[in-house]
Amino acid sequence: MSVNIAIDGPAGAGKSTIAKMVAGKLNFIYVDTGAMYRAMGLYFHNLGISPEDGDSICNACKGADISIVYEAGVQQVFLNGENVTGLLRTEEAGKMASAISGYAKVREKLVELQQKMAALENVVMDGRDIGTVVLPGADLKIYLTASVETRAKRRFLELTEKGIPCNIKEIEKDIEERDYHDMHRENSPLRRAEDAIYLDSSDMTIDEVADAILDALSQKEGKSGQE
Ligand code: C5P
Repeated sequence: MSVNIAIDGPAGAGKSTIAKMVAGKLNFIYVDTGAMYRAMGLYFHNLGISPEDGDSICNACKGADISIVYEAGVQQVFLNGENVTGLLRTEEAGKMASAISGYAKVREKLVELQQKMAALENVVMDGRDIGTVVLPGADLKIYLTASVETRAKRRFLELTEKGIPCNIKEIEKDIEERDYHDMHRENSPLRRAEDAIYLDSSDMTIDEVADAILDALSQKEGKSGQE
């Protein structure tokens, strides 16, 4: 049986950095589910379909073939045969992903792919609904969050480092809007699973958060070994 770690939380909480680090230390695969929603968003955008047009989104869904490949341990997302990984990390792609992720048809398709991956491999999977919907039986569940100001500052630094012009107030506003949308949608809203460990990373370093997760896993494994 594969070992599954679920990490959920709002945009910019540091999930991907932490999940990548934990996966590296455990020699697990890191599955970034946000990238799959971003690729679906790109697909609808390329077809000229507006995120408000639910009928067209549901009809077009079956034409999207999303697949995940690992190159040197790094996740690559393919959309209908094309590697789109480099196009997914923009703020625009994030907003589009958030807008289309509320549709049940979109979620069904991606959840199935995510569940198949987790059944085959030891994974650290991050997203919004991993502990609640995708992997309710995960071996360890983490709910990772941080204050809006901290998250906006991190995103600002990340984009600035890449030479992408941005404005911190706009990023804060986008984060708040995305949180609201992700937490209030009808299908699989972002919420903490009852059995998830709550971690606020606002005043923690990346190493401290990763260590807290690895410690929690050792404790769980220790407990299940005694049963
Ligand atoms: O994590 P990331 O910012 O890349 O996710 C982009 C968007 O995709 C989120 O704002 C959320 O709306 C959606 N998403 C989701 N369920 C997931 C992962 C991401 O709805 N498991």
